[in-house]
Amino acid sequence: MKFNFINSIIGLMYPTVCAACGTPLFRWEKLVCTRCRSLLPKTGYELNEDNPLARLFYGKVRLKAVTSCFFFSKEGKVQHLIHELKYKGNAEAGVFLGQELGKSIKEAPLFQGLDFLIPVPLHPKREKERGYNQSMMIAQGVFDVTGIPIGEGFLVRSVNTSTQTHKGKEERWLNVKDIFELRKAAQLEGKYVLLIDDVLTTGATLEACALRLSVVQGITIGCATAACAGR
Ligand SMILES: [Zn+2]
Repeated sequence: MKFNFINSIIGLMYPTVCAACGTPLFRWEKLVCTRCRSLLPKTGYELNEDNPLARLFYGKVRLKAVTSCFFFSKEGKVQHLIHELKYKGNAEAGVFLGQELGKSIKEAPLFQGLDFLIPVPLHPKREKERGYNQSMMIAQGVFDVTGIPIGEGFLVRSVNTSTQTHKGKEERWLNVKDIFELRKAAQLEGKYVLLIDDVLTTGATLEACALRLSVVQGITIGCATAACAGR
């Protein structure tokens, strides 16, 4: 009781703000305001097999389904959420994005029969600095909604690469193509797995992960991210 009272006082002095638009939240709102929840730009790609993201991988690696929950635009709300997740220590923003992604794929025909969610691994050193792997937070949110288990330890990042942000397409690929290792491959035979990442830009990171997984006998691979480049 006493604790709640103190929290209310703190809340009055420093109102918690929406992780997407920065306006103060009402007491009944959590993390993201009601307005943003209805306005975040959904792609609808989960229902479209031949979408622009899927086409990025044609001729490179065989994927059953590729989707991204939201369009990402500069200075936009989705960018703000991703920024909170990656640079502000706001792990809950990742869980929120994952739950939204989970809702979008839960009933989508292309994403039925999944055995594991596989978050794209971070190098352990980077994970220690941030305190968590942002892709794992998104996978956690997808699990909350769908109940699909998170498969840990199948992919390992062996090299700590520099940031991808300012690199071109070719450079990004050279930067990531050999950095993932596959473990416990036998446990993935005949399974349908969904790679999970925060943002899909050129697709280089997901392609590198999918190529490693694709050597497993009878495996089916899909990719899902919280956000992708705008329309
Ligand atoms: Zn908002």
